Amino acid sequence: MVKSYDVIVVGGGLLGSAISYGLAHQGLSTAIIDEGDTAYRAAFGNFGLVWVQSKGIDYPAYSYWSMRSSDLWPKLAGDLFESTGVNTGHSRRGGVHICFSEKEFRERAQKMKTLASHKADHFNYQMLHRAELTKMVPGLGPDVYGASFSPHDGHVNPLYLMRALHQSFKNLNGVIHRGERVLEIIRSGSAYTVKTNKGEFSSERVVLAAGLGNRYLAPKVDLKQPVRPIKGEILISERVKAFLDIPTTYVRQTVEGTVMIGDSQEDVGFDIRSNPRVSQNIANKAKRTFPFLTNARIVRTWAALRVMTPDGLPVYEQSETMPGVFAASCHSGVTLAASHALVFSKFVAEGKLGEELELLGAERFRDNPRTRSVAQIFGKE
Ligand SMILES: Cc1cc2nc3c(=O)[nH]c(=O)nc-3n(C[C@H](O)[C@H](O)[C@H](O)COP(=O)(O)OP(=O)(O)OC[C@H]3O[C@@H](n4cnc5c(N)ncnc54)[C@H](O)[C@@H]3O)c2cc1C
Repeated sequence: MVKSYDVIVVGGGLLGSAISYGLAHQGLSTAIIDEGDTAYRAAFGNFGLVWVQSKGIDYPAYSYWSMRSSDLWPKLAGDLFESTGVNTGHSRRGGVHICFSEKEFRERAQKMKTLASHKADHFNYQMLHRAELTKMVPGLGPDVYGASFSPHDGHVNPLYLMRALHQSFKNLNGVIHRGERVLEIIRSGSAYTVKTNKGEFSSERVVLAAGLGNRYLAPKVDLKQPVRPIKGEILISERVKAFLDIPTTYVRQTVEGTVMIGDSQEDVGFDIRSNPRVSQNIANKAKRTFPFLTNARIVRTWAALRVMTPDGLPVYEQSETMPGVFAASCHSGVTLAASHALVFSKFVAEGKLGEELELLGAERFRDNPRTRSVAQIFGKE
């Protein structure tokens, strides 16, 4: 017999898990179908920032959405801890974007001013010259000129986040079908048949949250999710004494004492091999920022693929020809986890995307596509 649910979520990565958790919380019978280890999974290879201060500088709808998520994060972390006992390690004491020259500092100040002008729920920030910055972030190298600081930023342990979302989802009677690849979604009356490589399921609603898999699944339901992989590498040091209370965009210290280092963006298709030249550049930048890291041993490295749209903004859609079918993709799934769990899931339950997501639809790619280079997306140009 075909198993039937209120909602089927395709993909159990960060987006699918957060959305499913929110749906199950609302009492909807929800199943995640996840391909598992054979797919590319950004959820298990990311840096763990909950970051606001670079998001949507030239696109207010994205800055609002990111800010909203940052504000909702304490609730999400608290609810997850209460229902599972898993501490996601969420900390929101602010974060810094380091500048190495007066020019960089001036340009950064201009960007922060623009972001604040969106009045994204009273976005707060400070531009800190070196002397003020060292009070907040000790151990800086002589090349550091200053930084922008925003109290809205923070970080989290992304693996504990995944564990907490899955555990809480199951506690709410959510079902996870692992190791199944969704191949087709076919309308049958008022419901949908979701075909996998192993069988069939039925549901009234379907959410495509398959990360890079959304690209080929979306056209099957008359949607467009033009995502492509952008590789990022991360280095992990041995445990060192506590030195960094708040994260920077490319160095953060975990509660266990290890240091996560990562700041690369490579447009190299589906290649997830570490590139020694890139690893060296990442390490050099970290050492330039915190010279004492020169003596810390790197104990692990990996590369993972970001889920990137042509303009770097998230994309949310609902199908006009297949009502009740939605799709979501983004490259900031940790930051937006709270918005996905506590807001987007409500839109799915109500059967209609909220107005705040209107400007984050795929329409923007249709007539006059908005595109930005990877360097622009990550504020390096
Ligand atoms: C190096 C790196 C650093 C990052 N740092 C941050 C950060 O600091 N902060 C932040 O907010 N974000 C960060 N991200 C981004 C974040 O990890 C992603 O936005 C997020 O993981 C995307 O979630 P997703 O669920 O869309 O995709 P994924 O996490 O990739 O999950 C997709 C899931 O879909 C499944 N799937 C695919 N196709 C199918 C199919 N046909 N049928 C069934 N299942 C399928 C896969 O098995 C997978 O589990 C980073 C990413 C990388 C790579």
